[in-house]
Amino acid sequence: MHQTVEKQRLFFESNSTKDLTFRISQLDLLQNVLKENETLLYEAIYKDFKKSEFETYIGELALIYEDIKEAKKKIYRWSKRKRVSTNLLNFPATSYRIPEPLGVCLVIGAWNYPFSLSFSPVIAALTAGNTVILKPSEISSETSKLMASLINENFDSSLFKVVEGGVSETTELLQQKFDKIFFTGSTAVGKIVYQAAAKHLTPVTLELGGKSPVFVTKDCHLTMTVKRLIWAKFFNAGQTCIAPDYIMVDHSIKDDFLALAKIEIEKQQYSTANKNYVEIINDKNFQRLSNLISPQNTFYGGVLDAEKRIISPTILYPVSFKDSVMQEEIFGPILPIISYDNLEDAIHQVKQLPKPLACYIYSSSRKVKNKILSEVSFGGGAINDSVMHITNSNLPFGGIGSSGIGSYHGEAGFQCFSHYKSILDKPTWIEFPFKYFPLSSKKLKVLKSILKW
Ligand code: NAD
Repeated sequence: MHQTVEKQRLFFESNSTKDLTFRISQLDLLQNVLKENETLLYEAIYKDFKKSEFETYIGELALIYEDIKEAKKKIYRWSKRKRVSTNLLNFPATSYRIPEPLGVCLVIGAWNYPFSLSFSPVIAALTAGNTVILKPSEISSETSKLMASLINENFDSSLFKVVEGGVSETTELLQQKFDKIFFTGSTAVGKIVYQAAAKHLTPVTLELGGKSPVFVTKDCHLTMTVKRLIWAKFFNAGQTCIAPDYIMVDHSIKDDFLALAKIEIEKQQYSTANKNYVEIINDKNFQRLSNLISPQNTFYGGVLDAEKRIISPTILYPVSFKDSVMQEEIFGPILPIISYDNLEDAIHQVKQLPKPLACYIYSSSRKVKNKILSEVSFGGGAINDSVMHITNSNLPFGGIGSSGIGSYHGEAGFQCFSHYKSILDKPTWIEFPFKYFPLSSKKLKVLKSILKW
């Protein structure tokens, strides 16, 4: 591990990655490697958790190709020095900020979208001119193995290398000195990564999880609300970091909401009979999720197939904040519904939980939307939709508090792997005498009148 890092550091110090055409050539190489091996990518992810080609394309590869396309198009603009205004005290001068790559970066991925959660940060890191070591999740073992072989066969390991492994390998990696660590995963492991980074004062971006709430208010467009929510919740069998975790629905519409949700699950063909319905990733998660379903409040679903690791779309109602399903991020196809009489109380209850990665508001009232937006703190989200905000690269993506530190996507990704040097650039044809000895009350008076303090 140490040798790999040092090899990358030597390469970084050669300044080769400062050349924008070199960076573009590496983005092209990544695109070609992925495009030429798309079939292998689909096969590997299907082996890991039966994810279909369609879902892999729309949920992963399309996003990666879009990231590469955008990076290639905007790299010259993003890399330019950014002019800022100069204060009066420094007149005459120009001031600007120059982005520079950080150096050797470590990217640690999660298993639920193994390609995009690995390659999207890598694309941002390479675009910004860094070298990268990628450690994919060992839980999605087939995709991890494939990424290692494709990348390590096609890239110079001084620039980009995949290191496979679980806790012990990651622990060893984290002992090395990196210039940036980008981690996607759980809040618990995020804390371990943060502590390891602190030893070297390494900056981090932590993309973590949490319980993302949904507010369904009485003035929402109910059929559209249910349609969009059901899709977002059960896509990838709920194994999405920004999936709606639980729903706060106005009591006056809860019966209609529940009835429509049942119909919509069937309409959208989310069921164990659908061969494209995604599996739970492993037995440990299957067991964890099974324990969250209690027959007493299973309103819909609750069908478990341990052998195939499938859990049917499940709605729990009624649910209280004391139930076990409300004590942790669900990360599976279980949807607890909590009804409220008073929006004020609902907001108060949501705010008792750690700050979530996402929040969704289904309402047609501007007043209600603004109230929730201003009172609830969360990473990002959507109004009258769920999950789709992640596809807009103009919206930096990240959490707050327990759900993460920092953000990426689009230019925010470039910024997260860059340092911006702040430069004051002065001409030499003039120099005012005010700051130099001898000091005098006259000088001070002139200074005060210029600066107007
Ligand atoms: P995880 O934290 O268990 O694992 C993530 C990575 O950390 C893996 O590569 C794993 O090998 C490594 N790891 C695990 N234990 C470690 C340890 N003790 N020391 C060092 N490294 C260790 O998370 P996961 O199960 O892969 O993913 C699920 C979690 O990730 C959920 O909480 C989900 O919300 C979150 N997530 C967040 C985002 C996001 O963009 N914010 C995206 C996907 C998943």
